[in-house]
Amino acid sequence: MANIPAHIVDEIMQTARIEEVIGEFVNLKRAGSNYKGLSPFTDERTPSFSVSPAKQIFKCFSSGKGGSVVTFLMEKEHFSYPEALKWLANKYGIVLPEEKPATAEELAAISEKESLFIINDYAKKYFADQMHDTEEGQNIGLSYFVERGFRPEIIKKFDLGYCPNKGDAFTQAAIGSGYKLEYLQTTGLVKSKDERNFDFFRGRVMFPIHSSSGRVLGFGGRTLISDKKVAKYFNSPESPIYHKSDILYGLYFAKGDIIKYDNCFLCEGYTDVISLHQSGLQNVVASSGTALTKEQIRLVRRFTQNITILYDGDSAGIKASFRGIDLILEEGMNVKVVLFPEGEDPDSYAKSHSSQELEEFVQSHSQDFVTFKTEILLKDSQNDPLKKAELIRDVVQSVSLIPDTITRNIYIQEVAQIFDISEQIIASEVTKKRAGNQGNTSLRPESKQSPQFQAPSESQATVALEKKPVDIYTFQEFSLIRVMVKYSVFAISTIHREENEEKEVETSVIELICHELAKDGLSFDYPLFHKIHEIFVEGLKEKTLFEPSFFLKNEDQELVKLISEIIDDKYELSPNWLAQHKIFTPGERDKIPQLIMDEIYHFKKSKIESRIKEIQIQLENLDPQDDEQFNVLLGEQVFLDRIKGTLARELNRIIH
Ligand code: ATP
Ligand code: MN
Repeated sequence: MANIPAHIVDEIMQTARIEEVIGEFVNLKRAGSNYKGLSPFTDERTPSFSVSPAKQIFKCFSSGKGGSVVTFLMEKEHFSYPEALKWLANKYGIVLPEEKPATAEELAAISEKESLFIINDYAKKYFADQMHDTEEGQNIGLSYFVERGFRPEIIKKFDLGYCPNKGDAFTQAAIGSGYKLEYLQTTGLVKSKDERNFDFFRGRVMFPIHSSSGRVLGFGGRTLISDKKVAKYFNSPESPIYHKSDILYGLYFAKGDIIKYDNCFLCEGYTDVISLHQSGLQNVVASSGTALTKEQIRLVRRFTQNITILYDGDSAGIKASFRGIDLILEEGMNVKVVLFPEGEDPDSYAKSHSSQELEEFVQSHSQDFVTFKTEILLKDSQNDPLKKAELIRDVVQSVSLIPDTITRNIYIQEVAQIFDISEQIIASEVTKKRAGNQGNTSLRPESKQSPQFQAPSESQATVALEKKPVDIYTFQEFSLIRVMVKYSVFAISTIHREENEEKEVETSVIELICHELAKDGLSFDYPLFHKIHEIFVEGLKEKTLFEPSFFLKNEDQELVKLISEIIDDKYELSPNWLAQHKIFTPGERDKIPQLIMDEIYHFKKSKIESRIKEIQIQLENLDPQDDEQFNVLLGEQVFLDRIKGTLARELNRIIH
């Protein structure tokens, strides 16, 4: 992908609202001046993910990730830096300069996953074009969808398509466009046998499967011939980008409404999702091709705590819904069930009823899981007391899976009421079941991870420094870079002596610090800090002072993360750290001049001390005959000792 020019990067970064973008992936709730939500990076139940609209940064306490809107997209969607920018440009209608088509070489250079995404995107367009623009496509593919009752706009919205029934038409076209056979095979779009390649989905109508951000992960293909021996649906095989157990069909189109209505409908397949959408029910997803998995439920949990299962009323549907209920409860979410009349599935019901009827049906038939399970099972058990006991145990088993004590107790009450049994008995059954469930991962307490980017304590840093100097930073380096970033553009008055005359000079914090460091030839050892220092120095050469937000558009996300940590007062240092090192708290602005001077002083002092240490080691290991070197080193040491003595005084020439 071509480089995006700097002024466009600026425009993108200025236009993008981090809270809006992250809001597409995470259900954010306002909390003071920030937004909070469940981390999309870990499996948590208490929100520890925070977004600051004012600072345009995010912080995830459970994974330790943090940074700008671009960092977020790179982490969440595994985008490269330019891809993340492109995504934002697209979202905010910012026009990027014309891109030349990727050459074969460029294609080869992109990582495998990226290649697979590119191929799927190509295939999606190819299948849609085939369906809309060719005779075969229109007569066979498009007419099938039209007969199913899908309207043109819904066909377009879901990127539906058709794979010609020619054997290798797609394969030929893709290879002709420069896509590698190897990758085409990995996506499963092309199958090879005895040196011959053919289209896996030939003759099928195509349902592209989108990630939650809209990238095509794989496909479902439905045959158009009704032959029992031919599988009705084919799905893409597992690949580096297609893991069927953690994909939900339709999530990309549904997430807005899932958040809006704080509920997610879950059904079986592609046609259900599309039909329901067409009927105006848009917070709907499907676990197509697999039985519902934990991972799929967790995808939903990013957006809502509530799932309503929509299954058909046959025994397979009921069985599937029972399994689904327990899984959802185990994940700590609320579950309801709507059972369609026998012989109907959400797709057929939506087709044969108006939008309003559908909505009413769903509303009035949505049952909480206890009522639902009880009713179904009661039908079976009639008045057989043994069967009834069995049934109670079954419902109690589901209740015992609920992690939250309060919710669990509410259901215990409900079960007690329905069956007219004392609450104590039900509660003790639940407790027994829970004991039996032990060892089951879902009942273990959640593991607590601590934030990653914590400044090391001074002693830790020093120890590590001796072993591997640049892997971990020292306290003084962190502390100075922090004030450089945070207060770069603040003005500060210093006293300048020129020919015995003292002059008051106003300068910026960053100029002062860079000047002080340059004067003694000092720089940072930790590469990331070094890089930031260089950027400031380069800026000063152009008479430019960089505000912290400037760094948020840097391509280096490690750098962006550091900057965002620094910008964000709250996350910057642990209380312990504060006490140990007298780091200034938010009121520190009043004391900026003194703070800056202290930081420079401590930085210089620590650099000088470590240089003195080095000299001492060199002196100890010196060849006793080498008088000349001995004198040089000793001279330097004396010089450094003297500077150390005067440092504080030299630096303290600040007007407060
Ligand atoms: P029909 O027109 O015969 O009703 P259909 O295309 O609606 O066929 P169903 O057999 O009714 O399919 O299946 C219901 C839902 O389950 C559909 O939305 C379909 O997408 C999905 N489905 C069925 N089999 C599979 C499969 N093997 N993989 C993925 N999804 C499937
Ligand atoms: Mn059907």
